[in-house]
Amino acid sequence: MLSPVICVIIAIATALVFLGVIFLIRHLIQRKYNNFVLQNSICLKQLNEINQRYSFYPYKSFDQCHTYDNEKMYDTVSCTDYLIYQLQFKSKRIFSQITKISENKKQYSNYLNEIKAITQFGQFQAPIGMLKLDNLIKTEERLLKVNTLCAPATQFNLTVTLYCSTIDGRIYDKKSECFSVNDLFTLSRRLNNKSVGFYNDREIWDAICRVERGRVSNKMRFSIYERDGYRCCKCGISASFAQLEIDHILPIAKGGKTVYENLQTLCHKCNVEKGVSHIKYR
Ligand SMILES: [Zn+2]
Repeated sequence: MLSPVICVIIAIATALVFLGVIFLIRHLIQRKYNNFVLQNSICLKQLNEINQRYSFYPYKSFDQCHTYDNEKMYDTVSCTDYLIYQLQFKSKRIFSQITKISENKKQYSNYLNEIKAITQFGQFQAPIGMLKLDNLIKTEERLLKVNTLCAPATQFNLTVTLYCSTIDGRIYDKKSECFSVNDLFTLSRRLNNKSVGFYNDREIWDAICRVERGRVSNKMRFSIYERDGYRCCKCGISASFAQLEIDHILPIAKGGKTVYENLQTLCHKCNVEKGVSHIKYR
């Protein structure tokens, strides 16, 4: 006499083997259907032929981000300001990507229409023999879905994220804004309104100046002070006796950039005196 426990174990094992066999048989049958459909379906041939005629552009992100290690700069510069600044250098590439995405949209809609026009389910190039027609059609429909090209990117937008960190890089605040293609067109049109390198749109120009000024990070500020010996480059007063500031030698308002060679240390008094004139004291 077998104990009840062993009986149960044998019953479970038998059931598992039985299920396994059923699963295997189903799998083999399905494979037969798959192979037959892949080799002989008129629909799938049409799909492959359509697929070969289409290719879509990949999505390329132009999202922008920047970290300010100076809270004052972070508060002063808005996401729109930052975008305007970047558009000066990147608008060509951004608009080329927008064109590609809108081409994707058009092409994908044509593609879907062509796929919809495939209706000859259940027609094969070889006799179906013992295979069941409704199973073949189900397999065809499934394989048609599987082999349909993935939807490409058809929408473009650009997100600007600004972070605020401590001087050693610990982020403690962030702000973010998403811009549509229309926003980008509007800003770009305003940027294009310029004469001899300067923007006629006052708001655009102010935004660019804010970002340019904000490019003096605290880290950069201290390395300039160090380079200039913690003294005003004009009168020589040291940091112990006056408040030192970073001055753009060629002022931002005249197109000066925030790069080491264009920066000098001045005391507040000398900086105010210099104003927007282009004088190098170093
Ligand atoms: Zn000075």
